[in-house]
Amino acid sequence: MAMRLIFLGPPGAGKGTQAQIISENHQIPHISTGDILRAAVSQKTPLGKQAKDYMNRGELVPDALILNLIQDRLSYEDTANGWILDGFPRNVNQAAFLSELLAKLDQNADFVLNLEVPDEVLVSRLLERKRKDDNEETIRRRLEVYHQDTVPVINFYQQRDALKTIDGDRTMEEVADQLNEAISSGF
Ligand code: ADP
Repeated sequence: MAMRLIFLGPPGAGKGTQAQIISENHQIPHISTGDILRAAVSQKTPLGKQAKDYMNRGELVPDALILNLIQDRLSYEDTANGWILDGFPRNVNQAAFLSELLAKLDQNADFVLNLEVPDEVLVSRLLERKRKDDNEETIRRRLEVYHQDTVPVINFYQQRDALKTIDGDRTMEEVADQLNEAISSGF
């Protein structure tokens, strides 16, 4: 049976790591808009050239770029078995677009997983990570953007889908176990 998961959470919550584990366990593609955008930037594609400055400032890339990208990605053959979305949707407009797109495809997200981690923990994790866009200023900006644009997405899903919040301020193994339990319980 196909399994479709949406993974929400702030930058540095550990979504990427956990999504990868779930992707392997359930044999579904891990679709990370951040990874796709970083690949586009390093390959200097038209998308990458347009996205780069926004990413370096810690701002969201304009929806016009992201919505095309996700529509395209969800039409690949490897999505027949489902998917796990990581980093999308990041604002309510993206969430509404996804709902419409899925309705057209006659699909539905099975679960929305929301990983919660306090801001001060996120800042220190992101400072340790040292990705190119991880300096203190852009980290603060990404967190602001998260609170302003992405937290409302939690509400959006709370009202229409099965949403489960998991405490992400624990070891990687503990978080993986909690997520696994949530998924197998079917919440
Ligand atoms: P993080 O979880 O650390 O914020 P991501 O890899 O998810 O990192 O995203 C990195 C950057 O890519 C974001 O700061 C943003 O500029 C851009 N980005 C990723 N996904 C989206 C999206 N759905 N909408 C707009 N911008 C996005």
